[in-house]
Amino acid sequence: MATDKMGFNSKLIHAGADKDKFGSATVPIYQTSTFAFENADEGAKCFAGESDGFIYTRIGNPTIQALEKQVAILEGGYGGIATASGMGAVSSIYIGLLKQGDHMVSTDAVYGPSRVIMEKYFSNFGIESTYISTSNIENIKRAIKPNTKVLYIETPTNPTMEITDLEACVKLAKEHNLITVVDNTFSSPYLQRPLEMGIDVIFHSMTKFLNGHADIVAGMIVTRTKEMYNILRPAMVNMGCNMDPHQAYMVLRGIKTLAIRVERAQQNAMKVAEYLENHPKVEWVKYPGLKSHPQSELAQKQMFGPGAMISFELKGGFNAGKTLMNNVQLAMLAVSLGGVETLIQHPASMTHSKLTAEAKAKANITDGLVRFAVGIEDVEDIISDLDQALSKV
Ligand SMILES: *Cc1c(COP(=O)(O)O)cnc(C)c1O
Repeated sequence: MATDKMGFNSKLIHAGADKDKFGSATVPIYQTSTFAFENADEGAKCFAGESDGFIYTRIGNPTIQALEKQVAILEGGYGGIATASGMGAVSSIYIGLLKQGDHMVSTDAVYGPSRVIMEKYFSNFGIESTYISTSNIENIKRAIKPNTKVLYIETPTNPTMEITDLEACVKLAKEHNLITVVDNTFSSPYLQRPLEMGIDVIFHSMTKFLNGHADIVAGMIVTRTKEMYNILRPAMVNMGCNMDPHQAYMVLRGIKTLAIRVERAQQNAMKVAEYLENHPKVEWVKYPGLKSHPQSELAQKQMFGPGAMISFELKGGFNAGKTLMNNVQLAMLAVSLGGVETLIQHPASMTHSKLTAEAKAKANITDGLVRFAVGIEDVEDIISDLDQALSKV
């Protein structure tokens, strides 16, 4: 049975890896920088692209390739390009798609460093950008200029949980000849598959759900077409944003349980969101699974589930948020998400602290906003931990 025809859970276990010649149940770690050619002709063929033999690990490696093939199959794309980190994926995408004089439109509450490298570094090379709330499609229409080349979306956003209509973006991009990019980190292919909706490029910080165990940093780009793959692959290879074989092995191990981890974390998240929504000290809760989320219908339409990320605001603002974070015991006070453990963090002073006050206000990142990444522990324990910490607020 071809692995690309299997169900999602079977793909997690079987897709990507070639049959090992010794029958190894897992993909071996090819911890090597370089590969010997059979002879000079074989070497020449590899360099000419007439053979799929390996040359040098920055260019390609069997362990890394197994993961690239697997994630491409999971996302329904043409090819995967593994990177050293999620930001390695972002950098490779910017370098590969934008040149001097080009303009990019993007989500204002995008992952902090994705915006920082564009506004602080890529702007030095004459690349323009406009950051707007993409959850309103009219804002995107207004931001498009004659030199706009890329529409770069993050949905749901980090940490405001706003959702952008991907179908509408694909339609708009066709009209204006734009390349569409989606940061799919928050959802993972288990919950959202933008390439199947016509998006051109997606990427992941595999540090989060795909690896899922908070023990490595890694990234992955997946393209919908061969043409796009042939643009982005050399960008990554020549910039040196490549993954290491050991990293690839770790993700290959973690990814097997993606579906059961996300399913469990999502079930927990729904209960935690309901608990928070009914708590008198909580001002509001943003979770796409709640009816109170203004875009819960859109979430249902384009996602296979509401995910494991919740944001909420305490009535006491900054100080209440700080008290909560200093009193949780089970939840770890840490950035990141998508691991098996529950994490709590404060965007205004942590992940989004580099943004100006104006940019924070525009992106709705308030001082009392708390981001909660729900893990796979017993939900009763997660809630009773929140309960005892909230009682001190
Ligand atoms: C973590 C993260 C990134 C960056 O990934 P790294 O692996 O930390 O480089 C990008 N986008 C989102 C949504 C993230 O959560």
